[in-house]
Amino acid sequence: MKATKKIVSAALILGFLLPLPIAAWAQQKSVPSAESIDETDTTAQQPGEPPAVRSLKKAKNVIIIIGDGMGTAQVYASVVAQKNASNFLRFPFSGFSRTYSNNKYTTDSGAGGTAIVTGHKTDNYHIGVLSDGTPIPSFLTLLRNQGLATGFVVTSSVLDATPASTYAHVPHRKMYDTISLHMSQCGFDVMIGGGLSNFRPENRKDGLAPLDTLRQRGYDITYSLEEMKNSKSNKLVTFFCENYYGPVAPGRDPVLTEGTKKALDILSQNPKGFAMMIEGSQIDWGCHNNDAPYMEAELADFEKMLKVVLDFAEKDGNTLVVVTADHETGGLVLTDGDIEKGKNTCKYVTDWHSGVMVPVFAFGPGAETFSGIQQNSDLMPKVFRAMGRKVEN
Ligand SMILES: [Zn+2]
Repeated sequence: MKATKKIVSAALILGFLLPLPIAAWAQQKSVPSAESIDETDTTAQQPGEPPAVRSLKKAKNVIIIIGDGMGTAQVYASVVAQKNASNFLRFPFSGFSRTYSNNKYTTDSGAGGTAIVTGHKTDNYHIGVLSDGTPIPSFLTLLRNQGLATGFVVTSSVLDATPASTYAHVPHRKMYDTISLHMSQCGFDVMIGGGLSNFRPENRKDGLAPLDTLRQRGYDITYSLEEMKNSKSNKLVTFFCENYYGPVAPGRDPVLTEGTKKALDILSQNPKGFAMMIEGSQIDWGCHNNDAPYMEAELADFEKMLKVVLDFAEKDGNTLVVVTADHETGGLVLTDGDIEKGKNTCKYVTDWHSGVMVPVFAFGPGAETFSGIQQNSDLMPKVFRAMGRKVEN
């Protein structure tokens, strides 16, 4: 008798404690059809989605972080190297992303970046266009149009495939002259990386000067860490170098962490919210070189940037952070190591990308929707639903 009473009371208490979405699900019983879903309703269960607890809160801001070439083995190498102080351990939700492109089992960063930031798979080497050449806007462009502040920070050239996929629309990633014109006209508030060379007329076939276009559009253009930090403008472009930065290990400035801090300072001033893309670009380069120390140094740099972003998001409470990769690079296998010393024995099986799934980590309102195995092109619709915004693409 006593036991039955206990069970009834426990059930009653549990009933009070159960979050609303579970109660709603219990009544609903079946998964809704695609037509019945209001995409602006972030609490609605989506087809195929487990009936887990959904955030009732909508994300005001979104930060998409791409570790280029960062597969599960790369992340685990970082977790070991950080001796359990890894920032990857701070994410409450994680899943996987299938990275194949529209025409290849193994994607490049052009098709991979485009799928992540636009929600559409395309052919390898394409940037911001479908396989038939139709331009498709990125989340930064769409959210800029809705009045949010927008920007990106990368450790490669601002014209490299991943950042380019947020603002450019070209059939090949090496069309740097066109890509730089598109960047000079994209209207994002903050753009930080390398790649100054293509913005000067003397280095271009068309003799145009996109650097002047940026100036005319009111950007403060800065050329060093110090100038970037001292800028008082809320429209900022920083070129840290003519083309590409060197690796972090021989002493590259802390551009990823400091660029992220500066971008957050500027973008978070917009009362409507902000959208941002950050790329740790050179994890990929280390893995292309099958150079474990290079890769590990870039991952350590990536960890510092993650700390800045997660500290911000924890304090803010309204920011969705999604970390993923466009693809894995190197076919990395960790065959041995020393947990105590934070050491990994790294072996690579290719000097190009591999086709394996890559991890997805999510934090903040709507983060729970990123668990499970998903397509790289599913990430962006999920971001829009988490923000309570209509999926436009
Ligand atoms: Zn690569």
